Amino acid sequence: MDADVVVIGAGAAGLSAALWLAERSARVIVLEGRDRVGGRVLWQTVGSVDTPAELGAEYIHGAAPETASYMRAAHLERVEVEGDSWAADASGALRQIDDADFLSNDIFQRVRSLPQDESVHAFLARFESDPATRDAAHRARAFVEGFEAADPALASARAIAEELRSGVDSTTSRPVGSYAPLFAYLHERCVAAGVDLRLHATVERVHWGDGGVRIDVPPATLRARCAIVTVPVGVLQQRPGAVPFSFAPPLPAEKQAALRGLEMGHAARVTLAFRTPFWETIAGGRYRDAAFFRREGGTYNAFWAQMPLRDRTIVAWAGGPRASALAGVPASERIERALEEFGTMLGERDLARRECEGGVTHDWSADPFARGAYSYVTTGGGDARAALAAPVGNVLFFAGEATATDGQGGTVSGGFGSGLRAAREAAHALETGAAALRKAH
Ligand SMILES: Cc1cc2nc3c(=O)[nH]c(=O)nc-3n(C[C@H](O)[C@H](O)[C@H](O)COP(=O)(O)OP(=O)(O)OC[C@H]3O[C@@H](n4cnc5c(N)ncnc54)[C@H](O)[C@@H]3O)c2cc1C
Repeated sequence: MDADVVVIGAGAAGLSAALWLAERSARVIVLEGRDRVGGRVLWQTVGSVDTPAELGAEYIHGAAPETASYMRAAHLERVEVEGDSWAADASGALRQIDDADFLSNDIFQRVRSLPQDESVHAFLARFESDPATRDAAHRARAFVEGFEAADPALASARAIAEELRSGVDSTTSRPVGSYAPLFAYLHERCVAAGVDLRLHATVERVHWGDGGVRIDVPPATLRARCAIVTVPVGVLQQRPGAVPFSFAPPLPAEKQAALRGLEMGHAARVTLAFRTPFWETIAGGRYRDAAFFRREGGTYNAFWAQMPLRDRTIVAWAGGPRASALAGVPASERIERALEEFGTMLGERDLARRECEGGVTHDWSADPFARGAYSYVTTGGGDARAALAAPVGNVLFFAGEATATDGQGGTVSGGFGSGLRAAREAAHALETGAAALRKAH
């Protein structure tokens, strides 16, 4: 055996799983296809701004216990999001709104009265046709597209309601200085614990059976007692353009059904850097404390600043169908559209252009190691996350944000938590296997 456990993927789930096992003396190899750790957590500096801009995850949603625990251990801080919110009406005029109202998704509580699951689109349509509930339904649709990055025509209303009950949307904060220091800390701690972390190692096939696993990672083949699979749903589903990845024998029918109950959501983020935070001083300073600009039309559904930390960047965000429409659009054009729409929204198109130092973005929908941003449950998908999380034959364990069953699906903290859960399951299987072997001798 080359290792006790092979962990496939070095994102949040893979790093937390590998660290937990290695710190308990398991021999762990992590195989990561990219040239870096972090997966869908990725950052890059933009213009002359020192703090790296996030290209993937940015926020900490809700209490996020696993993220909070690692941040405490690394002596890192987070800051709660604050500031004013503005919304553009149909004419494009900006008016100040209460973000708590905007994000209030009470309407999803009515899902309980449904005899069976429905798509978010079907569920909200009946409220959108009633003038008394039209606005609330529109906001809920914008939330599902923007926050969940989901297509309302496919997303399960029941799953969204359950996730909201978990409180994952209750507070929003950010790691100070981006997620970069946290992932650098986890990477170092894995290496210090003896994890054999291999980059440029794309797994093509996982052979599994009673004797353990054999992993094809060309040009090598590795053997281990078990594997923890953390690759995203887009790779497991073998979406067109994903790196080739398969199991031999194929996964049991329950796993295939679980994968049919999940979908990769799409999100497009552009971070623009400016010479000065010019939006704070225009229009008599009315946007001085602006945190969010929300709007209905256009390529991007929202723009935001880093409030309460003042810096010189603005994020343009498109989620759900709007982001799908941006898949494959060159980075230069995404950045150009973000600058054009932000400047035009503020009535300061020329000023925005003069002030802009540049922008950065990453196309997650076209990324062969992800094929999307984060997962959601489709209509009738029920407990697809739990079914995907279930071990197979005591040799295959599954982690990754898509397997988080505590309402943290689709988040970094959900990724960490799922990695810890899979690591415990694998450790239990290793112990049971070792005990059986001792007894046989
Ligand atoms: C634009 C965007 C914004 C987001 N915003 C937030 C946010 O604000 N807050 C939040 O909590 N979450 C956010 N997320 C989601 C968050 O980034 C993910 O939920 C989390 O990082 C997933 O971690 P993971 O370990 O499950 O998967 P990943 O990070 O995807 O890790 C899986 C790893 O497997 C590797 N891999 C894939 N195939 C193979 C293969 N065949 N062989 C070897 N390695 C392979 C991948 O390269 C990757 O490193 C965002 C995501 C995106 C894309």
